[in-house]
Amino acid sequence: MALETDSEGQGEWGSPLFYEAVAQFDRVAGIMNLDDNIHERMRAPQRALVVTFPFRRDEYETVDTVFGYRVQHLHTMGPTKGGIRYAADVNLGEVAALAMLMTWKCAIVGLPFGGAKGGVRVEPTELSRAETQRLTRRYTMEIINFIGPDKDIPAPDMGTDEQVMAWLMDTYSTHVGHTEPAVVTGKPPSIGGSVARREATGRGLMSLLPSVASHLSLPVEGSRVAVQGFGNVGQYAALAAQQMGCKVVAVSDVSGALYNEDGIDVADLMRYVVENKVVTDYRDADKLDPAELLTLDCEFLVPAAVGGVLNAGNAEQVKARAVLEGANGPTTGAADEVFRENGVFLVPDVLANAGGVTVSYFEWVQDLQNYFWSEAEIVARLREIMNRAFSEVLDTAIREKTDMRTAALIKGIRRVTEAKLARGVYP
Ligand code: GLU
Repeated sequence: MALETDSEGQGEWGSPLFYEAVAQFDRVAGIMNLDDNIHERMRAPQRALVVTFPFRRDEYETVDTVFGYRVQHLHTMGPTKGGIRYAADVNLGEVAALAMLMTWKCAIVGLPFGGAKGGVRVEPTELSRAETQRLTRRYTMEIINFIGPDKDIPAPDMGTDEQVMAWLMDTYSTHVGHTEPAVVTGKPPSIGGSVARREATGRGLMSLLPSVASHLSLPVEGSRVAVQGFGNVGQYAALAAQQMGCKVVAVSDVSGALYNEDGIDVADLMRYVVENKVVTDYRDADKLDPAELLTLDCEFLVPAAVGGVLNAGNAEQVKARAVLEGANGPTTGAADEVFRENGVFLVPDVLANAGGVTVSYFEWVQDLQNYFWSEAEIVARLREIMNRAFSEVLDTAIREKTDMRTAALIKGIRRVTEAKLARGVYP
């Protein structure tokens, strides 16, 4: 590999998560005998922007300066696409890793995008609404020349939501001099957001559960589901699971975990969380040690919170028959190996949580055409795309005698490789 690295042999974006993403890519590239030139090209992001910027605190005197990032992994397939996360520990390496994952994710479900990711290193729960607005507007200004409807289209991720996307869209539009809804997805429907975008990741993920159940000869009705994380992904995944007849026996969030062997009433818990912010102290369930949720006796485990939660420390104890990755990167490479050994069927993030970016794609198409679809159309197209991708990945896994993550990555990398070979190298 000729790509120059820094004096410690690490790229500028070196970080544990980035090495994990590259190691995963290298492993799959080896299995599929990927062309060396293309392999090297895709190990590093195409463009990465690091900014620092100030925002004023509410009491007016204090000005905090924070880091912001936007990384675009690959422009071969079209504009780049991916969320923006606000988190106290986000860094360039994490954002670069997640941008690479977005490239594979978009390719696996067949969207005309390369991968991107953005982040601001700030603890979002410690910001007031006004501070979040000022921070978002200034961050948008710092990256304004880097994004655009035909360049790079942000979306929500951890710590950001519809309102943040609305401020981003408003700031961008104000500066270019006209309203530009297609610059961002995951906006409120009143300004060009798509109906069913908020629910899309959780619903898309759960639309795969019947296929997973049938592959493992498990029933859907009455199957026990444990969901880690009760944010945008976890809530709608849990709700969809309950609506299809599963028992959601456990859920958790930063405040703690809940358990009810007869199933938690998810809609009721969602109402509780609107009022109380967190799940802890919800009356119709017992308290559970959050770490135990991951090793519960259940059929389906849905990690839908942060990265790295299934690792060498707990993978052997996982009793679920299947893991559906709602979060990005919840399973480390070491845990992946344990699951392969122990026959835990894993539907990887790049497939399982692709429903979010799929409906983001629908939102972008609707914005560009100024023609909006009904919820029924969106849900039907989402299901179709998710289930087609699932069966193609499963076929690849069976044919290549490999696991679902490897098969999904083979499919995504192959698609991007074909495009790269067709376009050639400039000049
Ligand atoms: N942040 C989400 C993801 O990781 C959604 C990205 C998007 O909708 O562009 O897939």
